Amino acid sequence: MISRIDHIGIAVTSIDAARVLYEDILGLKITDTEVVAEQQVKVAFIPVGDSELELLESTSPDGPIARFIARQGEGIQHIALRVADIDEALRTLKSKKVRLIDEEPRRGAGGARIAFLHPKATNGTLIELCERGGEPDDNRG
Ligand code: ZN
Repeated sequence: MISRIDHIGIAVTSIDAARVLYEDILGLKITDTEVVAEQQVKVAFIPVGDSELELLESTSPDGPIARFIARQGEGIQHIALRVADIDEALRTLKSKKVRLIDEEPRRGAGGARIAFLHPKATNGTLIELCERGGEPDDNRG
């Protein structure tokens, strides 16, 4: 059901400030940025091999990413696992009585369909399931 780590979500106070580390120092490249209004977040995509880093900057002082940073500072906020069929994955998890934040998939950055598992069901790690359209190996269809 899970094929790879799709991306790692990293909460930052400023994508522009973080750009110095990821681009100038580490030599990676931010290929795209996108505002996901529903989640009050601006996302910057940094491909790394088959996976990506996703820098997450809050667009509002009380958005989920702003609250995360207020609680525990900048850092890894979630890990996203790629699934081919998110509807099937959610059905399987529900049948195994796994607690979910999202009972149904919602729209994520890059046109993905995503759903979060509840951290109480995952030893404290926020896990996102992520289904992408297009070619099976297309990073962001
Ligand atoms: Zn994500």
